[in-house]
Amino acid sequence: MTSHNPSYLIVGAGVFGVSTAYHLIQKYPNASVTLVDRDAYDAESRVAASWDWNKVVRADYDDKVYCQLALEAQDIFKSDPLWKPHFHQTGVYWTCRSSYAQNVITNHKELGRNDDIIALPVAELESFTAAFLTMRTTLVLKSGWAAAGDALRAVTKKCLELGVKYVTADVATLQFDGRGSCTGVKTKSGQTLSATHVIVAAGAFTPTLLEWSAATSGNPGLRAEERILAAGITTGMAQLNEEQYEKFKDMPVGFQGYTPNEGKPFIGSIPPTKDRELKWWGSKIFTNTREVLPGRYISSPPPTHDYNQWKVPGPLKQDIVEARNLWYGPASADWQMTKHRICWDAFTTTSDFIISPHSASKGLYIATCGSFHGFKFFPVLGKYVVQMLEGELAPELIERWAWDRQRPDSSQNVEYPNAEMKHLLQPASKL
Ligand SMILES: Cc1cc2nc3c(=O)[nH]c(=O)nc-3n(C[C@H](O)[C@H](O)[C@H](O)COP(=O)(O)OP(=O)(O)OC[C@H]3O[C@@H](n4cnc5c(N)ncnc54)[C@H](O)[C@@H]3O)c2cc1C
Repeated sequence: MTSHNPSYLIVGAGVFGVSTAYHLIQKYPNASVTLVDRDAYDAESRVAASWDWNKVVRADYDDKVYCQLALEAQDIFKSDPLWKPHFHQTGVYWTCRSSYAQNVITNHKELGRNDDIIALPVAELESFTAAFLTMRTTLVLKSGWAAAGDALRAVTKKCLELGVKYVTADVATLQFDGRGSCTGVKTKSGQTLSATHVIVAAGAFTPTLLEWSAATSGNPGLRAEERILAAGITTGMAQLNEEQYEKFKDMPVGFQGYTPNEGKPFIGSIPPTKDRELKWWGSKIFTNTREVLPGRYISSPPPTHDYNQWKVPGPLKQDIVEARNLWYGPASADWQMTKHRICWDAFTTTSDFIISPHSASKGLYIATCGSFHGFKFFPVLGKYVVQMLEGELAPELIERWAWDRQRPDSSQNVEYPNAEMKHLLQPASKL
């Protein structure tokens, strides 16, 4: 295979990987594009952060780059027949600091979208809960949520129809030639997959895979080091009865935004699905530091095939109870909890993605780090990954998403992991 006949191997079939495959095969219908993932794309349960019942699809960013990107993605969610069936335009309701609301409004105006946001002082609300449930006040946007797992399955299936290959296998290490260029991957069962372009989109597992690859290749420059941190967050779902469903079925997505001083990430809740299940998430975002190789300790999801994602310990379930009380008050105490899941994602200190060539190996590219907000960009992520592969990314995005860049520390980032999982599980720990 020569560089005139490029082939693409994408490790990880979450939103970053699948969107990349989708954009590549549309642009190059005859290209060899392969997705490799530890889970089948239509498996009952997957470890991907992108695989879930529902995710918020919003465009209220105070950062203009992501605001624009989110609007671009949302337009596709609302209009393209591939995405539209999975999008529910319920509106989004925020309680947040005024400056955040104002920045969002300014961004939307500057981007030509000044039609869909209202901001009101909290003092004008009768009560937060009443306002949230009746949608009478505050920041309401033409946003909503997407049936995430369904959308991921549908777009992957479309990729396969267009000629993308899908290999279900656990990748053990990247493969390199004698000059250190990346040539493919080796799976745990010993299979070798080769391509001229290897794109790692492995979400929370990315730092571990790079550690393993650094060890097998003898190239320590491959390691993620401080660039990427794998972390988990707990989600909970309750099964509403008929009466409860009637009350909540028309609610918007809700967000409570905190500042770094308050020491809490944004918490949120999503309207019930058609199966009457209502989801929200906790306020602990935690690392899991463990030995991934002799003497190498990094944060990595638990070393089981399913990351132990369904084995949620009591203190993390308590985090879900506390978030539920914040949203829905004492009346929610007898809700029937149906699911608890720990969802693992890859974080950067700035919450910027990494969409970049890897500086330590030719032919190797990184496209991941959703940092707890990546799903909503699903329709457009691949467009930017392809631009990166072809050296056509706008200078501002090259800088934002670079593998090597100056990164501020995480002190101003409320979404950055704030605890170590084992400490949260100790009996005396406070949630
Ligand atoms: C609880 C939670 C709620 C969220 N809510 C929202 C939201 O409301 N809105 C929003 O926009 N974003 C949200 N996000 C963020 C969003 O889900 C993620 O940022 C995004 O899905 C990450 O996509 P990804 O493709 O990088 O990783 P993933 O979706 O995690 O995909 C990585 C894939 O790589 C595969 N993989 C890993 N290692 C290997 C290996 N060695 N071999 C083979 N395959 C491998 C995995 O199986 C997986 O399928 C949320 C995240 C979490 C955790």
